[in-house]
Parts: sequence; structure tokens; C-alpha cells
Amino acid sequence: MSETLKTQVAIIGGGPAGLLLSQILHLAGIDSVIVERQSRDYVMARIRAGVLEQGLVDMLTAAGVGERAAAEGLPHHGVQLAFEGEMHRIDLSGLTGGKQVLVYGQTEVTRDLYAARDAMGGVILDEAADVTPYDIETDTPYLTFTRHGTDYRLDCQFVAACDGYHGVGRRTIPERVQRIFEKVYPFGWLGVLSRTPPVHEEIIYANHSRGFALCSLRNPQLSRYYIQVPVDTPLDAWPDDRFWEELKRRLPAEAAATLVTGPSIEKSIAPLRSFVAEPLSHGRLFLAGDAAHIVPPTGAKGLNLAASDVNYLSEALIGYYRNGDEAALTGYSERALNRIWKAERFSWWMTKLMHQFPEDSEFDRRIQRAEFDFLIGSPAYQAAMAENYVGLPY
Ligand SMILES: Cc1cc2nc3c(=O)[nH]c(=O)nc-3n(C[C@H](O)[C@H](O)[C@H](O)COP(=O)(O)OP(=O)(O)OC[C@H]3O[C@@H](n4cnc5c(N)ncnc54)[C@H](O)[C@@H]3O)c2cc1C
Repeated sequence: MSETLKTQVAIIGGGPAGLLLSQILHLAGIDSVIVERQSRDYVMARIRAGVLEQGLVDMLTAAGVGERAAAEGLPHHGVQLAFEGEMHRIDLSGLTGGKQVLVYGQTEVTRDLYAARDAMGGVILDEAADVTPYDIETDTPYLTFTRHGTDYRLDCQFVAACDGYHGVGRRTIPERVQRIFEKVYPFGWLGVLSRTPPVHEEIIYANHSRGFALCSLRNPQLSRYYIQVPVDTPLDAWPDDRFWEELKRRLPAEAAATLVTGPSIEKSIAPLRSFVAEPLSHGRLFLAGDAAHIVPPTGAKGLNLAASDVNYLSEALIGYYRNGDEAALTGYSERALNRIWKAERFSWWMTKLMHQFPEDSEFDRRIQRAEFDFLIGSPAYQAAMAENYVGLPY
């Protein structure tokens, strides 16, 4: 069996970038269809980011999906940085004229976006296999895919590849026009989600000689903890008891003393990498979010960068459909990359500052310590950090 569908913008990927783009385009009267490889249950169950910049919160609000984030999200006005057990607060709001971040899980953002798309009759075709874009260098691109035994062709005017790091969109851009910039870190993050009260009301980033640790949270009863581990560590080498013991050793004493442990309800290891593919567009295909770039999660920028791409791309598409404006579409890549590289720099900087790098010499460690001491002693340096952490303007 085969079927042909038609839309204005075909969106590959039903993660936060694809869903938000579809929602914004819908509100502007532009038709889109999302084609997603996984089942909806799988997408909804993924545990990922949890710190939202104001820019993303504003986008959710403008897209009519910010109500639950506003009601249930936890505004954070500061973060805690620790080095070998000494804890220092960075006053995000005080240093940025009142800005803040909102702790609200990516899982919840995704749930809110699915609910909104469903309520407005949005078309999301999940469990789509072998999604392939064709004719992206023409005005009549299309996708093909197979779903539940039927072969589909989706005719469109534009393809938005919001299909994450392992997606098909980026690979459709010819090698002759694409440049890849990449840095792979020699460690990963072992993450545990537990139904326990968070150890601290603010997020703690800790650099310890045994490795980095992060205490984060999703809500007052749900905690997310991470420790730096060698990238080849098998997950089953980390039963819960070992994880909690190692986390405690890396935390400042006051935090370790009040840590409430419990069974993990999710446990995974994420490798750390910095990655950018340039340009973000070719012909009528546009990349957005993890499809185009990856940051190590130390600066909490992955999801937020996906949102700023969607902001620029939706503006460009709306400009095209309202006024026939091609310039914004042509300029999308450069505009988005300008902000992407700044977030890449910040995420790399925070990763360098807070982790133990196996290849580092004693000299490198002294420089890292000096950088930390300078940061906690310098309001100007702290202000630069805070400005980046709360999110650079769009
Ligand atoms: C394990 C993990 C932990 C993370 N933790 C954090 C964190 O703590 N803080 C932070 O800021 N960021 C974190 N991130 C990054 C953040 O989650 C991403 O930046 C964010 O999900 C980007 O959204 P996206 O929509 O661009 O991509 P994704 O969320 O990856 O969505 C892409 C979608 O495309 C679909 N897809 C892929 N290939 C195809 C195909 N061929 N056909 C159709 N559909 C396809 C995928 O199934 C997926 O649903 C984490 C990422 C991972 C993987």
C-alpha cells in the first residue's frame, strides 16, 4: 500500500524542537506534519534536560504551552559551585538585573507540546521508519517513509530536520558543503533519577579530585544526580549503592550530610561531546536543535539552543509565507550559528572548569584552581558567567 500526503513544512523529529516549531507555525497559519521514528510512549519517557532559560519559557508562553511550566516550574535565582568541598553561590539574578532560569523537566515540556498539538489537530506520524528527504535543492522537496506497513510520500515546500544528533537530516546535506567541528571529551555522565527530596534547593556543580558531580532536581520530590565516569564504564558496574557512595564523596560535607538516597528510577550514561555542523541549511532543508549541534550538558544549554534555533527558523518561515521574504531563510544559518557558537564556548568553558581531565598535568590542575578562585573572587567574571547561564538574548 502507498499513500501521498501534502503539507507546507515537513518536520522530521517529534522531540522538543520539532514539536515547538510545529506549534508556532500552526499559530501563524502554516501547515506542518511531524514524522517521528519512535513511538510516542518512548519519546515521552525520555529523561533529559531540566533547566529552561527565560527565552524558552517565553516561547512556550507565546505558543500557548507555558501554563504548566509557570505553575509547576521552580524559578532558580542562583547556582552553587563547589571546588574540593568549598561551596560558593553565584547570584544569577543579582548579577543579571533580575534574570533567572526555570527548573522544569524536558519530559514535561514534551508532554505539554504533544497535548497542545493534539488539541489543535496537529499531525504527528510516529513509528515512521526509513524517513528519507529528496529533492531538497528544488522548490518541491518531499519525504518518503514507511509506517505500519504503508509506504508514504510527503510532498512539502520546506523540510525542517529536527531529528537530533543521530537523525537523517544532517546526512542529507552534501559533504562538499558541510563542515563538522567536533570535540569528544574523555568521560561521560552517569545520571540517576530518584524519587527523593533534592539535597539543595539550588543546583550544585562540584569539582572534586575524584571527578565532577552535579546535584540537580525536577521538583521538590524528584532529584537528578550525575557523576563523571570514564566513558567506557558499563552501566551495570554502578548499582545504586555504589553511585550514592561515590556521589557523597564528591560533594561538599554539608551537602553529603543531608543527601537523601533512594532507589534509582532511571539510570543512564551519556557521553560528552561538543559538535557543530555548518551550515544549518541547504536548499530547502533546515537543521534545528541537536540535529545541528551538541553541547556537553554542563551549562544546561542543549534544549535551550534547540529553542533558539526554532525561534530563528520559525521567524524566517513566517516571513516567507507572509511576505515572500527569502532573505530571512537565507540568513537563518548565520543568525543561528552566531548564538550557537557562544553557547558552545560557554558549555566547553564550564566543562573545562568543573571536570577532572585524565590528561591534565599538575600545571593544568593549578590553572583550573586559579580560574575557579578568580571566578569566585571576581564579580565581573561571575557576571559574565551568570549572563551566559541565564541565556544570551535571541
Ligand atoms: C541522554 C541525554 C541527556 C541530556 N541531558 C541534558 C541536560 O541535562 N541538560 C541539557 O540542557 N540538555 C541535555 N540533553 C540535551 C537535550 O536533551 C537536547 O539538546 C534536546 O533534546 C534537543 O532537542 P531536539 O528536539 O533538537 O532533539 P531530540 O530531543 O533528540 O529529538 C529528536 C527527535 O527526532 C527523532 N528522530 C531521530 N532520527 C529520526 C529519523 N531518522 N526519522 C524520524 N525521526 C527521527 C528522535 O526519535 C527524537 O524524537 C541531553 C541529551 C541526551 C541524549
